[in-house]
Amino acid sequence: MSEWQQVLRAGVDNLEKLAERFGHDVIDVEALKPAFDNFQMRLTPAVLEQIKEVGDPMWQQYIPTVEELDIQDGMIDSLDEDGDSPVPNITHRYPDRALFLVSPVCASYCRFCTRRRKVGDPEKIPLNQYESAFEYIRNHPEIRDVIMSGGDPMMLSDRRLEYLFQNLRAIPHVEIIRIGSRITSHLPERITPEFCEMVKKYHPVYMNTHFNHPSELTPAAVAALGRLAEAGVPLGCQTVLLRGVNDDPAIMKELMQKLLKARVRPYYLYMADQVAGGEHFRTQVQKGLEIIQALRGWTSGLAVPHFVIDAPGGGGKVPLLPEYVEEINDDEVVFRNYAGERYVYKQPRIPVPVDGCEVAAEAPPDIVPIQIGKKPKRSKRPAAKRSARAG
Ligand code: SF4
Repeated sequence: MSEWQQVLRAGVDNLEKLAERFGHDVIDVEALKPAFDNFQMRLTPAVLEQIKEVGDPMWQQYIPTVEELDIQDGMIDSLDEDGDSPVPNITHRYPDRALFLVSPVCASYCRFCTRRRKVGDPEKIPLNQYESAFEYIRNHPEIRDVIMSGGDPMMLSDRRLEYLFQNLRAIPHVEIIRIGSRITSHLPERITPEFCEMVKKYHPVYMNTHFNHPSELTPAAVAALGRLAEAGVPLGCQTVLLRGVNDDPAIMKELMQKLLKARVRPYYLYMADQVAGGEHFRTQVQKGLEIIQALRGWTSGLAVPHFVIDAPGGGGKVPLLPEYVEEINDDEVVFRNYAGERYVYKQPRIPVPVDGCEVAAEAPPDIVPIQIGKKPKRSKRPAAKRSARAG
């Protein structure tokens, strides 16, 4: 057994052990049993260390609660991934990429998990059904990007991962392989030198990590991310907006800045999905917009993820932006910048056909600062000067 597998075994994976660790007065084993039976629980030593006190953001993400049984708008397969699954283990929703579920287990289980219907039980994603997935990808030359997910693909042995890489790399139209994994936070020991050497043979291999709170970026996690970066694996992060965990602009800013320092590019900030069992984590959409507004312009653009809702029912990811544009017409766009100041962007003159000829655009775009609260004025620069600049 490898070292990381031994570390995994030292975690907590049932309610009795959880009560021993945090006290029976805190963990009501009987009350939590239905939630536990509904969705597996496991906390690795790294996650246990991240929990500093009962009810803190790390606790909320991993400790079962009776709220999971309160279903209102929640759905089992809220993104209808199974509806877009032509063969077992594959979801093909977008034009040029496919999701490949390769592992049914995770090092720790997040209570808000969208895919909780599929993970936690080794039977749910059969490992002997890879071949039909390879065949599907082979027969679909439009698939140039394969996202290995699960569960956590990094829970597979190096041998099995290499088998997957080899088979995917044998398909000429697969240009990019991505791994979706929360392992750098859950089990940083898994990023071994052996894995880093092996993955280099199959580049480009990207990894989308998953961090939700700055305290997850422990020295061990940052070191694991560094090993991946040194192995040439570009790193992104998918964060989920979670009530009581990170629904605060200051926490998000710290998280995004720490990710960049750890060589990870924040990629998506997701609204929590409408998944049955995870509804108590949902915030209003306005909270996400407020967070993006608090990031954009106030810190590096690299630290600002795309804020998206993964549309319930399988509509795919839809980006959401705070309202910056106040007015847009053929002549100009009136908008506010990150600090709330209003500006005008002059639209270029669109060439208009006259008697079969085209009239060239006259002026380049102008950006005219104006005072807050005042109606924007048009530029008074003479037309001749504008024409001169246009030349
Ligand atoms: S690591 Fe990912 S797949 Fe696993 S429980 Fe957490 S969110 Fe779900």
